[in-house]
Amino acid sequence: MPRRILILGGTGEARRLAARLAGEKKLYPIVSLAGRTENPAQMPVPVRVGGFGGIDGLRAYLTAERIAAVIDATHPYAAQMSRHAAAACAAEGVPLLALRRQPWKPVAGDRWREVEGVPGALAALGETPRRVFLALGRNEVRAFEAAPWHAYLVRSVDPVEPPLAVPYADYVVARGPFTAEGDLELLRGHRIAVIVAKNSGGPATYGKMEAARALGLEVILLRRPAVPQVPAVETVEEVAHWLETVKAPDA
Ligand code: NAP
Repeated sequence: MPRRILILGGTGEARRLAARLAGEKKLYPIVSLAGRTENPAQMPVPVRVGGFGGIDGLRAYLTAERIAAVIDATHPYAAQMSRHAAAACAAEGVPLLALRRQPWKPVAGDRWREVEGVPGALAALGETPRRVFLALGRNEVRAFEAAPWHAYLVRSVDPVEPPLAVPYADYVVARGPFTAEGDLELLRGHRIAVIVAKNSGGPATYGKMEAARALGLEVILLRRPAVPQVPAVETVEEVAHWLETVKAPDA
């Protein structure tokens, strides 16, 4: 019987891991998505969608589905899912490995300011009207209606529906990866003065950080949430190697 591996997804890493494991005869990978995007990227393995119902729900799922190991390949800001995975796996004795991206580090020329969540970003934007690029998920941009004096450019995977209740907002619906050249053009074209973003790490969305550096723009970065201390690696190959050591639940 192939060992059943649960990949907690929502990231490019989860997709690449699924593709890497799809051909392994001894493994049966399943990707779990929160269901945040309307048209998630195609996966080469079975996918389940939606929350498990907290820690207890995930524990029940691990048992019912006879999961041999869990790979936490969630987005660095999806900290609740990571906490639930750590608690459920510990309670059920299921091996857990996190596949984590390092945060971006500032280099010479970067003008970054780290803030606590969206409230911190709103405070940092201030009371003077500015042209702001919101590179956050569509669920988080709604809060910027509280500062309607700024002009916003919103980029999201799915459309922001209904549009923000602010007088000035433009929208770009697009899925990464994005290039520095493309983002430079976007920021110039919209005469952006400041960016609000997450420190997602990885190359797919780093283009805007390079573009901001080239233009000397300020970047307001939401601080990364704390994630549980569990064994972690940074590459798909390291996960594949680790999985060779995991036994079936009844082995
Ligand atoms: P979260 O706060 O960590 O999770 C909230 C709940 O969503 C979890 O408790 C779980 O519900 C469910 N959930 C999350 N990831 C799941 C998965 N892979 N499979 C099944 N259920 C999952 O995460 P979030 O609310 O989705 O997002 C938090 C932050 O992460 C936001 O800033 C968001 O933009 C960013 N982010 C998330 C994703 C993603 O795929 N989730 C992707 C990109 C960015 P139950 O408790 O019911 O199990």
